[in-house]
Amino acid sequence: MIEMKRVSKVYSNGTRGLNNINLRIEQGEFVVIVGLSGAGKSTLLRSINRLIEISEGDIVINNQSITKAKGNELYRIRRDIGMIFQNFNLVKRSTVLRNVLSGRVGYHSTFRMILGLFPKEDKKRAIDALHRVNIAEKAYIRADQLSGGQQQRVSIARALAQGSRFILADEPVASLDPLTTNRVMNDLRRINQELDITMIVNLHSIELARKYATRIIGMKQGEVVFDGTAEEATDDVFDIIYARSLDVDMPRSAGE
Ligand code: ADP
Repeated sequence: MIEMKRVSKVYSNGTRGLNNINLRIEQGEFVVIVGLSGAGKSTLLRSINRLIEISEGDIVINNQSITKAKGNELYRIRRDIGMIFQNFNLVKRSTVLRNVLSGRVGYHSTFRMILGLFPKEDKKRAIDALHRVNIAEKAYIRADQLSGGQQQRVSIARALAQGSRFILADEPVASLDPLTTNRVMNDLRRINQELDITMIVNLHSIELARKYATRIIGMKQGEVVFDGTAEEATDDVFDIIYARSLDVDMPRSAGE
């Protein structure tokens, strides 16, 4: 379970990325966050695993505050949270298997990891994860030899090998074609349903949000302006989420 309590983020240049967010996400939900570019989706997602430090409030993951956690405690909480990025974030010159194994780094000593000594169970776990996303036959191929969709599935496998209970995905299909997009989204859905891993996914496609989300959160100017099921997210709701506020960006015409 993830709880955000009165969370705000003000960037050093004064921009307010998040404004008083209160949310509770239960284990097993498939949450899609939608909103215009600049609405705060990425800030919200990256606050959850503290890739971004919040300015106010508290974020609690399975009853432990990640906001207050330090050292080993922070490390352990972070192990439960996998992250998937638009650009896949793979080590391109390493094999697929090595990339997936890197999800296990948090479980071993630095010394072991410098030598690249992963135990046999880790390799088994990594191969199992690759099977889950139907890409095990690519295990010994260099990551940069794969298509975008395949690379994104490798990054999903890495989050699985990590043993994450939550996966945060920041625009995971933004650079993929429509067919590949559906394959990757189907993988995320299957993993969510079969392994009960909570998904929190930023998407800009309304169609995909409706198709995959069990819950849609609409953001605008750093605030949550809608929180409900896909059925409740009607066209009118999306019109509000995606309405630009005229007084902020639009130059006024002469004479007004
Ligand atoms: P989204 O993911 O919905 O496009 P972001 O979370 O990236 O939105 O951005 C929310 C707001 O915070 C925007 O106004 C953006 O310009 C601002 N912002 C994001 N990152 C930074 C940063 N590093 N420094 C200053 N402002 C930022």
